[in-house]
Amino acid sequence: MPNCSSCGKYIQPTEVFRREMYVGTTRRVHYGKRISFGNSTHFRKQSVCISCAKSIDDANESTGTRTKVFLLIVAIVIVLYFALT
Ligand SMILES: [Zn+2]
Repeated sequence: MPNCSSCGKYIQPTEVFRREMYVGTTRRVHYGKRISFGNSTHFRKQSVCISCAKSIDDANESTGTRTKVFLLIVAIVIVLYFALT
């Protein structure tokens, strides 16, 4: 019986979606010649319901849009810089 990894709701077998989900951070300490710290984040394919799959997709999409807007602003600033000098 699949349950949603995000909201815990029971999912119909026909509505199981697989999405990459953040499952945690591992902190590692290396005791070598120097002590160093390493963090690694883990993503795992989880079974989620349709509404959670949609919200994960929306979140991924908005991150992409924000990056595009940022690049556009940078491009405009560069163009203005050369236009004004
Ligand atoms: Zn869910």
